[in-house]
Amino acid sequence: LSLSDMVEARRICVCVRKRPLNSKEVTKNDIDVVSIPGNGTLLLHEPKQKVDLTKYLDNQVFHFDYSFDESSTNDLVYRFTAKPLVQTIFDGGVATCFAYGQTGSGKTHTMGGDFSGKSQNNAKGIYAMAAQDVFALLKQRRYSGLDLCPYVTFFEIYNSKVFDLLNKKAKLRVLEDEKQQVQVVGLQEMYVSCAEDVIKMIEMGSACRTSGQTSANANSSRSHAVLQVILRRRNQVHGKFSLVDLAGNERGIDVRSSDRQTLVETAEINRSLLALKECIRSLGMDSHHIPFRMSKLTQVLRDSFIGENSRTCMIAMVSPGMSSCDSTVNTLRYADRYSLG
Ligand code: ADP
Ligand code: MG
Repeated sequence: LSLSDMVEARRICVCVRKRPLNSKEVTKNDIDVVSIPGNGTLLLHEPKQKVDLTKYLDNQVFHFDYSFDESSTNDLVYRFTAKPLVQTIFDGGVATCFAYGQTGSGKTHTMGGDFSGKSQNNAKGIYAMAAQDVFALLKQRRYSGLDLCPYVTFFEIYNSKVFDLLNKKAKLRVLEDEKQQVQVVGLQEMYVSCAEDVIKMIEMGSACRTSGQTSANANSSRSHAVLQVILRRRNQVHGKFSLVDLAGNERGIDVRSSDRQTLVETAEINRSLLALKECIRSLGMDSHHIPFRMSKLTQVLRDSFIGENSRTCMIAMVSPGMSSCDSTVNTLRYADRYSLG
């Protein structure tokens, strides 16, 4: 049994990825307070102060299915997280991969990759690697007879509203029918004939995400981005893979100096991330009550939390610096194996 077979066998996989200290943090003499002593564990050295003002480090251990240190590549992270889920959608299941963490922790680097040109580490992201594997499997003989057709959707959820990134950020309505089937009305579903097609859609959608700010969401880190690869068979959905670059979960937003919009956004983000945690937990417990109506995010991802054949992977990203400690603790508590189920 290979390690990726083991990932395949479980419904939920929770991992953590630490990025390296960046040059800005090094310049500011920020200290690395995160270490990965073994695969699956993470140690946080949190600075604390006693009542008598003596300072000390509080060492806390967190547990995950896998923990990736700062030397890990996107390719390695992919192999243990999203890659096994590609198989799930060919077997007729629903797969979902989440990137969670504060702004700047590496969610987009991990999911979308890094082709900015500014960075030396040009690296393909999980989106592109998953797309390649989908087309590799489509060509395999055991699947080529199924007449599976791949489609892509790409949308953003900002302040409980859905915007189509493949259609000029058109604002879309979400409807639920009497069978509780959730539908995003008018969402563009693009047929794709090769991995390069998918990558083109991702580039188009990502450009749309960060430009043409008509809807006041000037900062893409405040929205959730959802890329879906849908396999259709005779026009019915056979399998669906959702790859989600979540909104930043940063702590320490100053309530007094923030404007109203920032406060509304923050409350909305916190609400949807809490709803997500509850839904993932109920998936792990095989619960019949899935609180997917708690937020727009969990509502549109309803299929991810139901059914025999749902597989979910959460990658929690952390920044290593002491200056990010509050957000890091927040992320680790959220995603710790014993807390997420
Ligand atoms: P987020 O999407 O969580 O806000 P980004 O993915 O944009 O964060 O990452 C912030 C910066 O850190 C980017 O410049 C990115 O290139 C860099 N970065 C993130 N993760 C890594 C990593 N594992 N290795 C090297 N650089 C990284
Ligand atoms: Mg980002």
